[in-house]
Amino acid sequence: MKKIFENNKKWVEQKLNEDKDYFNKLALGQEPRYLFIGCSDSRVPANEITGTGPGEMFVHRNIANMVVHTDMNLLSVLQYAVEVLKVKVVIVCGHYGCGGVAAAAGNKQYGLIDNWLRNIKDVIRLHEKEFLAIDDEEARLRRLVELNVIEQVHNLSKTSIIQNAMQTDEPPKLYGLVYDIKEGYLKDLNALENDGSIKRYEHIYSLLQS
Ligand SMILES: [Zn+2]
Repeated sequence: MKKIFENNKKWVEQKLNEDKDYFNKLALGQEPRYLFIGCSDSRVPANEITGTGPGEMFVHRNIANMVVHTDMNLLSVLQYAVEVLKVKVVIVCGHYGCGGVAAAAGNKQYGLIDNWLRNIKDVIRLHEKEFLAIDDEEARLRRLVELNVIEQVHNLSKTSIIQNAMQTDEPPKLYGLVYDIKEGYLKDLNALENDGSIKRYEHIYSLLQS
């Protein structure tokens, strides 16, 4: 822990050298433009890979960047970010080489985390045909990372918080991104329709209602 405190002290000195009011300004409040929902993986630091500093990005991270409708932690973050902070953009960001996604694709038991990863097995089941058509294991896992992000963006869009926000004058834009640990680049997966709407399952819902 000694290193952590030393680093912190150096960082404070550096920030104060650049702007003596830096912390006073931050203490006045936050007005972040983005909500970032990412993986807990230590190689995917939200601020660093997006070039955002303190005050610019509200962040929620969990294993395999999941949007689970019974997760009170995520829902609270989302509600506060969208309704109180009024973020303009909500990002779900996955990453290639995700251990959580790889664990969900296999049959090995890891303990409590298996219950969390259970949701990714549903993504596999939903896209079974596409997976079976990919021979290479690494390519299959990379595609699963992408499809997991897309499914989580859809889950996000179906929360009452986002559904209500869509009825307002300035609804937040939703994005599904994937981060390439080997290269450092972010890629937009275009998880939504071209006009930003979520249409994919609408025909099913209308069938159920008729
Ligand atoms: Zn991960």
